[in-house]
Order: sequence, then C-alpha cells, then structure tokens
Amino acid sequence: MSYDYDLFVIGAGSGGVRASRIAAGLGAKVAVAEDLYLGGTCVNVGCVPKKLFVYGSHFSEEFEAAAGFGWTVGKASFDWPTLRDNKTKEIERLNGIYDRMLGNAGVEIIEGRGTVVDSHTVAVNGKHYTAERILIAVGGWPSVPEIPGSEHIISSNEVFYMESFPKRVIVVGGGYIAVEFAGIFNGLGSETHLLYRGDLFLRGFDKDIREFTANEMAKKGIDLKFNNNITAIEKQTDGCLLATLTDGSKLEVDAIMYATGRKPKTENLGLENTKVKLSKNGSIIVNDDFQTEEPSIYAVGDVIDRVQLTPVALAEGMALARNLYGPEYSGENHQKVDYNFIATAVFSQPNIGTLGYSEEQAKEKFESVAVYKSDFKHMKHTLSGVDERTLMKLLVDQKTDKVIGCHMVGADAGEIIQGLAVAIKAGATKADFDSTIGIHPTAAEEFVTMREPAYILEK
Ligand SMILES: Cc1cc2nc3c(=O)[nH]c(=O)nc-3n(C[C@H](O)[C@H](O)[C@H](O)COP(=O)(O)OP(=O)(O)OC[C@H]3O[C@@H](n4cnc5c(N)ncnc54)[C@H](O)[C@@H]3O)c2cc1C
Repeated sequence: MSYDYDLFVIGAGSGGVRASRIAAGLGAKVAVAEDLYLGGTCVNVGCVPKKLFVYGSHFSEEFEAAAGFGWTVGKASFDWPTLRDNKTKEIERLNGIYDRMLGNAGVEIIEGRGTVVDSHTVAVNGKHYTAERILIAVGGWPSVPEIPGSEHIISSNEVFYMESFPKRVIVVGGGYIAVEFAGIFNGLGSETHLLYRGDLFLRGFDKDIREFTANEMAKKGIDLKFNNNITAIEKQTDGCLLATLTDGSKLEVDAIMYATGRKPKTENLGLENTKVKLSKNGSIIVNDDFQTEEPSIYAVGDVIDRVQLTPVALAEGMALARNLYGPEYSGENHQKVDYNFIATAVFSQPNIGTLGYSEEQAKEKFESVAVYKSDFKHMKHTLSGVDERTLMKLLVDQKTDKVIGCHMVGADAGEIIQGLAVAIKAGATKADFDSTIGIHPTAAEEFVTMREPAYILEK
C-alpha cells in the first residue's frame, strides 16, 4: 500500500512541529496541517506573549524601586497599544521562523483544518491526504462556563489582542494562568480582583508556596477573593460589566477574564471514524509510545492531557518521531518520556519555581523528610522600599539524603530552579548541596547554605 505521506500531523504547535521536524530530518515524508497559527498556543497565545507581558508589567515596580537607589523617575505612564502591537510584531517574526524551520526540514505545511476520515486519511479544505501514520497534536482550547452574560467574558485567547486596556478587571480561576494574569494586570495598572471558587489557588503546589504567594500578591494590591465566583454578568449602558458574585456582592469592572481550564480540541475531529478512544474530558488515550487504540494514529501534547506544558509536548513529539523513524533509537535506545521531576515556573509576581514533591505529597510517600526553609528579604529590597519577601524550601528524604522537593517564591525563581533541576534530577543529596560553595551575593546561594531543618515530617 502506498500513501501520500509517511506521517501526517494535525496541528503545528509545540508537539506537532517538533515531531514533524524530527521525523522529516530522519527521512520521513511529512505534512502538517494547521488552521490558525504556526507555533501553536505557546508562541501565539501562551507562554511567549504572556512572558513579554510579565516583563512589561514589572516596570511599574522597578520605577518605584529606583528612587531608593538615587534615581528620580518622572511620572510614568503606560500605553497598552504599544505593548500589544510590539508583542504581535514579535509573534509574527516567530511565525516566520517556524515557517522557514519546517520548510528547511522538508515538511509540507498545509493551511486549514484537518479532520480524520479514516485510519490513514486526513481531509483538509475538502482534499484527502493519505498517510501511513497520523499524529494528532491539536492541543486544547479555553473552557469557559455558561452563565448569564458569559458572552462578555474574555479568555487567554482574546486577552493578548484587547482593543483597550481595562482600568478595572476580574480574573477568574485558580490555576497558573489566572495567577499570572492577575499579576500582569496589576503591574500594568489595573485595579485587579482575582476570584477563585476554592479556598486557595494553585492546587497541587506546595501549601507554603501557595500561601506565601497569596500573601505577596495581596501586598502588591491584588484583591484576592477565595471561595467566591461569578453567577451573572450584566453589561451596563456605559459599557462596563457588572458581576454578581456568589457571596451576593457586586463588582463593576471593565473586563472579565476567565482562566478556568482548557479542553482538549477533539470535537468534530472525525475520531469517531476510527478506534481512537477518548477519556471523559475529551483527551486522547495513548499508551507509553503515544499510540492510540487505532494503531496507525498517535497523539502528543496537551491533547493527551498528561502534563500541559510546552517542554513536555516537545519531549513527547521528539520521542515519538525518533522511535518511529530513527533506527538508532531502537532496542535499548528506545525513547521514553520521563515525567518525574519536571521543573515548572509560575510567572506570578513574585515568580514561583518548583520541582519534585510538595510537602503534602512527601508526607504521604516518604517515612521521614527533613524540611529546610528560608524566608528573607531580597538584598535589592533593602534599598528599593518594595515590601517583597522571598521563600525557599528544600525537602530531603532522610533515608537517602536525596533532595526530593525544591520550591521557591521570589525574583527569578524559574531561572534558579531550572539550574537546580539538573542536579536534583541527577540525584543530588543534601550533602551535595552543603558541599557546593555559593555565589555571593545572590539570593540563590541560600539554597546551598540552609544548614538546620525547620522540622521533620514523619509519615
Ligand atoms: C496563556 C497560556 C500560558 C501558557 N504558559 C506556559 C508557560 O509559561 N510554560 C509552558 O511550558 N507552557 C505554557 N502554556 C501551555 C503550552 O502553551 C502548551 O502546553 C503547549 O502549547 C502544548 O503544545 P501542543 O502542541 O500540545 O498544542 P498547541 O500548542 O495548542 O498546538 C496545537 C495546534 O493545533 C492547531 N489545531 C487544532 N486543531 C486543528 C485541526 N483540526 N486542524 C489543524 N490544526 C489544528 C491549533 O491551531 C494549534 O496551533 C501556556 C498556555 C496558555 C494558554
């Protein structure tokens, strides 16, 4: 049987682009269908534009901090169209890079929405393409609840292109995207309310980290409303939005952003024409090699709902392509994605960087864990006048002396934890941390100078 392609990929996001490029580099004939934007969520409406906004939003604090160092900064003002449009220009530049990268690798890009016709056929714009294998890398889409007035809600898709900047905003959600956008809006000058239906945001993170972050965000002026939600939204004649909350109060704002989760984009994808199985939330069920129940169809990235992060989608796409098309990756070189000890950051203000077990998870799993903690004022803030503290935490398995958890809230936490992640993934012990000479004066040196445990956790 001959096919048009060896591999047909649906979705040119993080996972799809990486799999296409590696497969083509290993000699496969590859096409990728993309219906919105090259580079996917991360490049267009995710990690990259968000981080640019985080940088932008930090200047207000820097201007404030400058005075303590002798600077006189004139009255600062913020122009939203400048940030928005400069960001968009940068994203367009990245789209071009993706286009050239795929072209240079020999991958054919087909613009349009792909649907699965059968186990070896994909339709795009009414045309059928056959392939020995199909990879589904369609990612996810913001999921917003239906409430009266929900048509006025914006999600992370729209927030990057807002016509005007809201003077007052409500962000709804308890995940990292909600927390990050509350910081962005606040830093850029909005009166910011963060609403979450649970009693504390960032479920799954270490409890100290969650509480510390909430406290720091509140100090920066964000109004945190936990155990609260919106029941209805009404648009006023002047264009403002009036939100009614579950506690009975009302809040008038200019924009309401929901970051209440993302749904795998598997609706109307034609999967009913195959044996591919979906879980309850619509994600695609795959085995350890990303193969679905239909042997010629594979899936990677957010659509399989394992760990929804760009580097994870990249690792999955790369492992799959290597295993399928690289003879050198057979036998004992077979590629597996290791989901243990994935370092992550939340670009809240201050940042969170985290790796390994939280205190709550460690208590369940290990017999005895030593907890080292340091809560201090960053040297910069001794003169800046900014009332921000830093928290660092190390969890050590008493039996092996291995560091099993490493958490931080503070400036550049993501950058610091990324470095430590290599050591911890390689099995670093507390003794290794202790014998490492610090870099002085840095905040990061605190990680190698914490001598006495704050307490011991017993199972
Ligand atoms: C606001 C926000 C901030 C984020 N920040 C971070 C961060 O800081 N760090 C991090 O690691 N991760 C972050 N993420 C998550 C990250 O963006 C995703 O984990 C990553 O993009 C997943 O890659 P993917 O390839 O699975 O899907 P995607 O990148 O979503 O790519 C899927 C692609 O498929 C296309 N597509 C969908 N259906 C079809 C179809 N039928 N036919 C053709 N094309 C189709 C889509 O248009 C899209 O381009 C963030 C996400 C959001 C929303």
